[in-house]
Amino acid sequence: MTDRDVMQYDVVIVGAGPAGLACAIRLRQRNADLSVCVLEKASEVGQHSLSGAVIEPGPLEALLPDWLDNPPEICVPAGRDRFEFLTAKRSIRMPTPPQMHNNGNYVISLGGLCRRLAERAEALEVDVFAGFAADDALFDDDGKVIGVRTGDMGIERDGSPGPNYAAGVDIHARHTILAEGCRGSISKRLIAHYGLDQDRSPQTYGIGFKELWQLPEGRAEAGLIKHTIGWPLPRDVYGGSFLYHLDQDRVYVGFVCGLDYPDPLFSPFEAFQQYKHHPSVHALLEGGEIISAGTRALIEGGLQSLPRLEMPGAMLIGDAAGTLNVPKIKGVHMAIRCGSDAADFIADNDTSAGFDAYFRANAGGRELRKVRNIRPGFKAGLWAGLANAALETVAFGKTPWTLDNHADWSSLDKLDERDDNGPEKVARDLPPRDRLASVYHAAIHHEENQPVHLKVRDTSICATRCAVEYDNPCTRFCPAGVYEMVDDGEGGKRLQINAANCLHCKVCDIKDPYEIIDWVTPEGGSGPNYQNL
Ligand code: SF4
Repeated sequence: MTDRDVMQYDVVIVGAGPAGLACAIRLRQRNADLSVCVLEKASEVGQHSLSGAVIEPGPLEALLPDWLDNPPEICVPAGRDRFEFLTAKRSIRMPTPPQMHNNGNYVISLGGLCRRLAERAEALEVDVFAGFAADDALFDDDGKVIGVRTGDMGIERDGSPGPNYAAGVDIHARHTILAEGCRGSISKRLIAHYGLDQDRSPQTYGIGFKELWQLPEGRAEAGLIKHTIGWPLPRDVYGGSFLYHLDQDRVYVGFVCGLDYPDPLFSPFEAFQQYKHHPSVHALLEGGEIISAGTRALIEGGLQSLPRLEMPGAMLIGDAAGTLNVPKIKGVHMAIRCGSDAADFIADNDTSAGFDAYFRANAGGRELRKVRNIRPGFKAGLWAGLANAALETVAFGKTPWTLDNHADWSSLDKLDERDDNGPEKVARDLPPRDRLASVYHAAIHHEENQPVHLKVRDTSICATRCAVEYDNPCTRFCPAGVYEMVDDGEGGKRLQINAANCLHCKVCDIKDPYEIIDWVTPEGGSGPNYQNL
């Protein structure tokens, strides 16, 4: 039995994203006697944070009224909005949906915001431990969560302790707050363990790409916010692009695809690169260079897929729960609001109803209720989805029905069920050349000799059933080329996992059609090092 240090806190928060840090700050604002710590798997706060991000400042202002006195490194007031439908050659201006009006909002880097929030938390004597990945939950004899264990460091690839071995620490707390972000590994296990998603619609996700570009002088219009739908996405794929113009001739370029896409040959990464070659986008980016790039999953199921937010001893907040407002394409204000709500719930020692009821009755729950039917409406295709979105918007979400979601792993057609070859592709000349070149811009670091953190429970399926039924879609949906089918030396194929390239996006954990991939936390401090995404 390994000897482990034990640390005791009133509250342990897993994840230094906007939800976790807002919760920590609010807890200490409400009750300076509470001891609070935050665990972050990145070696520095903000390195794993990525979001669009145009934020609604309301919940941040409520938490920290003076936040603009020391803003994140990138923080640009929103200017004009544009919404366009793309064909292969043209961009057609459309009315901007009401949810996507951004007057009064700010374009920020989420990594920069998280660094500012961590500074404020530390000023309130919160212990923020970066480089420590929470590995699993701890339980007492009654099955209640009593904290988390951080991952061991210095484990060799074969699982044995190496020369730099250091055992993980047990952190015990009265309250464990899971703010791990989308598809958090401990959250996933606890949702299943406690059946928190029973009687809920299945959760559904998207994949989001983002690049920060430096453009030639005079090309960006600071504050311009542009969204597109249409080309190059097929009609049965939900998604679109964003272009957020920053100061100093920088621009955020991003692309989101729903992970409920049906074509096993579809490549989200390639769709993003194709989009950048639309005439209207290519003209903007040509001659520029990528400063930083990354990918993450988005949690899109909304209210009907929101699991119960509490379990004995623990709570789920922010993207770990699923509080993203999809029609607005905004999650940061919701995460901050949810984290603040969790802190108020604990500080008030509210025992009248659980945190789940508390959140749903508050502003965050009401906001999700209003838009609950918009994302699932796109399951019927782009134009039906837009018509449904218009109806839901004029009805303020008061339509008397709630549409269901479907699990993304179950949405792929088999190869023999499809007769199309996908959309025609245009030639590409903008960077990155391929997925490996894109990974370079994420500045990834993983200790090569650590155990593979992508657990495929049955690799025999890969070269047999999966190759025949889907042509190994993991080789296309992974944005970093982590999964490859290579010669096995005996005339067949085998799966090779290039785990050191992993961007921690969790898409494989979500989209694999056999549900046999588990993403678990690698050694603390591993992963991407996003610069201002
Ligand atoms: Fe994302 Fe999985 Fe690929 Fe890592 S291996 S980058 S988590 S899809």
